[in-house]
Amino acid sequence: MLGSGGREHALAWTLAQSPKLTKLYAAPGNPGIAEHAELVPIDPAHPHAVLAFARDMDIGLVVIGPEAPLVAGVGDLLRENGVLVFGPDAAAAQLEGSKGFTKDLCARENIPTAAYARFTDADAARAGLARFGLPVVIKADGLAAGKGVVIAEDAAAAEAAIADMFDGGFGEAGAEVVMEEFLTGEEASFFALTDGKAVVPFGSAQDHKRVGEGDTGPNTGGMGAYSPARVLTPALEARAMAEIVEPTVRAMAAAGTPYSGVLYAGLMLTAEGPKLIEYNARFGDPECQVLMMRLEGDLLELMLRVAEGRLGETAPPRLSDAVALTVVMAANGYPGTPEKGGAIEGIDAAEAGGAKVFHAGTAIRDGGIVANGGRVLNVTATGRTVAEAQAAAYRAVDAIRFPTGFCRRDIGWREVARERQGQ
Ligand code: AMP
Repeated sequence: MLGSGGREHALAWTLAQSPKLTKLYAAPGNPGIAEHAELVPIDPAHPHAVLAFARDMDIGLVVIGPEAPLVAGVGDLLRENGVLVFGPDAAAAQLEGSKGFTKDLCARENIPTAAYARFTDADAARAGLARFGLPVVIKADGLAAGKGVVIAEDAAAAEAAIADMFDGGFGEAGAEVVMEEFLTGEEASFFALTDGKAVVPFGSAQDHKRVGEGDTGPNTGGMGAYSPARVLTPALEARAMAEIVEPTVRAMAAAGTPYSGVLYAGLMLTAEGPKLIEYNARFGDPECQVLMMRLEGDLLELMLRVAEGRLGETAPPRLSDAVALTVVMAANGYPGTPEKGGAIEGIDAAEAGGAKVFHAGTAIRDGGIVANGGRVLNVTATGRTVAEAQAAAYRAVDAIRFPTGFCRRDIGWREVARERQGQ
């Protein structure tokens, strides 16, 4: 398995429960992953290094966690050399890597999404503003670690964002800009597994991107999540499959770039129905953690069938009826410069009540666990309701001593409020 975050710890923990697993290696992994896997110091985004290791060790399946190896073409090189891999080729990962690519595909296939225009120079983009109302959404085309999106409330902010992107404020990602109509509604994440032909739903989640309580302050990689997203009702999920995910998978196959792996659709649930905001070519982090808490059955079996192109031959994923909720504990300073090296104690106590603590940015120093990144731990629990799962997760959080860290205390607030109102 490639990767080293909380997502990959959740995947390793789940893969380790499979009776089919003989041996798990993780590159580069982290101290939590090390409980289930042998760690190997390989750069996961270096295709030839990964291939050499896979050959040497006769690896039966490579699972790609994060986006960097996908975009670097690790999946391509492994497949070309006959190694089974869970994760799309670079061409298929363009669904995440290029917003313009995905918008054009949506336009061709009539997939519901925000109206848009693509621009490669600042003057044309400024002139294009007249076609959109306010607020207007301005995005750097390429991967910008979730930071390449500006929602401009007025023309001055829109012009500043355009200038910033074309001036290299987002590096290569900003060489092209996508302008979009602003959608209103509630956001939900929807996951599907596909081998390029068959496609099956793999659950839903909602996350909290802002660092501050009440969803305020700067954006982060995600401060917490819960699954399922009840706002994505079975009827809306069926529409998302039929109107968005299935046509995408068919179009990718027809174009000769079949998409294989997990396809993560960021949806806006508008008054007209679900609309696609973006695709990711991998599990979300921390959404993966809550999905894995609910997964019943064998993840390795599912991933193998995806990699072999035989997903249609196995039972679709089953998720429990429980709600899972995860709270991200981050190092002080995050999402700016996080404080490294802070001691962490009490993980065992936190897990004693049934919660699971996934490691993200941790390291071992002098035999103890210390912070070694922005997002450090993902404290994850289940319950019959979001309120129950939330209470269980915060009981576990309170068992952890991490004086140089912090977390939001309101993960799941919107859903807890709806539960209180009996909705
Ligand atoms: P993206 O990187 O495309 O997922 O955008 C990041 C965030 O910006 C999304 O999660 C939404 O909250 C917001 N966003 C992006 N596109 C739109 C849109 N067309 N309308 C409203 N909000 C959007």
